[in-house]
Amino acid sequence: MLFKRLLATAAKSVQGPVLQDVVIIGGGPAGLSLLAALKSSSITRNLKCTLVEGSSLEGIREFADSPPEEYTNRVVSLTPKSVEFMQSKIGNWEFMNQDRIKFYNNIIAYDSQDRTSRIVFDGSAIEAGFLAVMAENVNIQSSLLQRISQLKEEGVDSTILDNTKVLSIGSALKEAEAASESTNIMSENVATASDWPIVNLSDGSSIQTRLLVGADGFNSPVRKYAGIQSRGWAYDRFGVVATVKLQYEDYRSIGWQRFLTTGPLAILPLTEDNATIVWSSTPELSEILIACDEQIFPELVNAAMTLDEVSLNFIYAKLKKNPNDFSVLDDIPWRQSRLKVNDLEENYPLPVTEVVPGSRARFPLKLSHADTYTSARIALVGDAAHTVHPLAGQGLNMGQGDVQALVEAIEKGVTRGMDIGSTLVLEPYTSNQWPGNHVLMGVCDKLHKIFSTDWYPIVFLRGFGMKNLNMLDFVKDMMIKNISGR
Ligand SMILES: Cc1cc2nc3c(=O)[nH]c(=O)nc-3n(C[C@H](O)[C@H](O)[C@H](O)COP(=O)(O)OP(=O)(O)OC[C@H]3O[C@@H](n4cnc5c(N)ncnc54)[C@H](O)[C@@H]3O)c2cc1C
Repeated sequence: MLFKRLLATAAKSVQGPVLQDVVIIGGGPAGLSLLAALKSSSITRNLKCTLVEGSSLEGIREFADSPPEEYTNRVVSLTPKSVEFMQSKIGNWEFMNQDRIKFYNNIIAYDSQDRTSRIVFDGSAIEAGFLAVMAENVNIQSSLLQRISQLKEEGVDSTILDNTKVLSIGSALKEAEAASESTNIMSENVATASDWPIVNLSDGSSIQTRLLVGADGFNSPVRKYAGIQSRGWAYDRFGVVATVKLQYEDYRSIGWQRFLTTGPLAILPLTEDNATIVWSSTPELSEILIACDEQIFPELVNAAMTLDEVSLNFIYAKLKKNPNDFSVLDDIPWRQSRLKVNDLEENYPLPVTEVVPGSRARFPLKLSHADTYTSARIALVGDAAHTVHPLAGQGLNMGQGDVQALVEAIEKGVTRGMDIGSTLVLEPYTSNQWPGNHVLMGVCDKLHKIFSTDWYPIVFLRGFGMKNLNMLDFVKDMMIKNISGR
C-alpha cells in the first residue's frame, strides 16, 4: 500500500506540474465565490481552474442535505450589493437554504455612556428594500459548492482539491534569480525561466499556473510568496460569537448594537426566536464570556445591552474571581429593575433566554491591509488582502467586492486576448478595489477607537454627533447606501 503511494507520488513528480490558467488557494467564502464566478461568466468559463483547500469541505457539502438543527456560530451580515452579486453574477443564491437566512431592515446603535445617544438606521431608503441579510458562512459556502456542481453538470468543468495543503510556492524564475544572486554571476537561465508560480501540494503533486490567487485568509501563504507587505495592528480585543434564543420571535426586524468601552456588542436577528451575537471584548472579558455557565451567559448579554458601565464592571469583577458566581443572576435583574418597563420593552432588544450549547467561540480582532492586491501572476482577495474589525459587518462583503472586481479585470483581459497573469490585466483590480476598501477599513477603525473611551470630552462630542446625526435623515440615508454597497 505504502509502496503504491510512493510510486504514485514519484510518478507525479516525474510528470512535472499540471498546467492551469487560474489556481485559487483557499476554499473559504472568497475562494469559492471566485471559482463559481469565473465559471459562471461566459467570458472566463473556459479557463482551466483549480481550487486548493487545506481542510475538508465534507461538512459543508453535507450541509445541503442535512443541515444541523441549530444555527452554527459563524454568521455574517450580507449587504444588498453582495446579495445582488450572488443572485445575478455567481448564481449561487438560489442554492442558499432560504429557511436559514434573515432579511432585516433597521439597525439601532446606542452608546453605553449616554442613554440618550442613539442612531436609528432605516433601510427603507435602499432600493433593494432591505438593509442586510443574516446568513451562516456554511450556508454561503454550501450554496457556492452546489453552484459549482451545477455548472459541472452543464459541462463547465473545474477542480476542487480539499484536504490538500499548499506546502510551498516557487517559480523557475525566482530559483534562477536566487542562483544568480548567490553566485554573483548573471545566469542565462534568468532570461529564459518561466515566472509562472508552481504550487507544491501535500499530496505530492504540483500545479503551475498563469495566475495564482490567494484567497487563503489572514496568514496568506500566497501574499508571503509574492512579498506583498500587509500593514495593520492587533486590537487587543476578541470577537466572542454565540447563537442565542430570544424570549420570543422579534417581529421588529432590527439589528441592535451597543457601544461599550470594552467594545461593541451586537445582537443580530435570525429566523424565529434565534439570534446571533458578536461581542467585541477585552481578552479578560472574553475569557469570562467563554468560561461562564450557560445560565449566566444570557443574563450577561442582557446586562451589557441595558445596564450602565459601573454596574457592568461590578458584575465583571465578580465573574473574574469566579466565572460561575451565580449571585450575578440576582444582581442583574435587581439593577435592571431601576429601568422603566416601557423603556426596556421599546428601546432595547428582547431579552436573551438561552445560549445554544457549544456555540460560544472567540476570534482575535485585527486590522491589516495589503499594500497592493496584485503583482505579476498574483492576485489577493478576501481576508488575504484585508482584515477588518467586525463592528460594521464588512469583511466578507469586501471579499465579495474583490471577487467581482477581479473577475471584471480578468474578463477584460480575456476579451482583449491578453495574458491574464500580466500586471496590465491585474492592475485595474487593485486600482478599482483598494481605495474604497481602505476608506471603509479606516471608518471601522475610527469607530472602534472613538467608542472605546470613557473620556468625557469624547463621550460628549460623540453623543452630540449621534443625536444630531439621528435627526439628519438625508445624511443617514447616504451612510446606509454606502455601507450597504449602493
Ligand atoms: C467575529 C466575526 C464576525 C464577523 N462578521 C462579519 C459580518 O457580519 N459581515 C461580513 O461581511 N464579514 C464578517 N466577518 C468577516 C468574515 O468572516 C471574513 O471576512 C470572511 O470569512 C473571510 O473569508 P475568506 O474566504 O477571505 O477567508 P477564510 O474564511 O479565512 O478562508 C481562507 C481559507 O484558506 C485556507 N488556507 C489557508 N492556508 C492554506 C494553505 N496553505 N493551503 C490550503 N488552504 C489554505 C484555509 O483553510 C481557509 O479555508 C466577521 C469576522 C469575525 C471574526
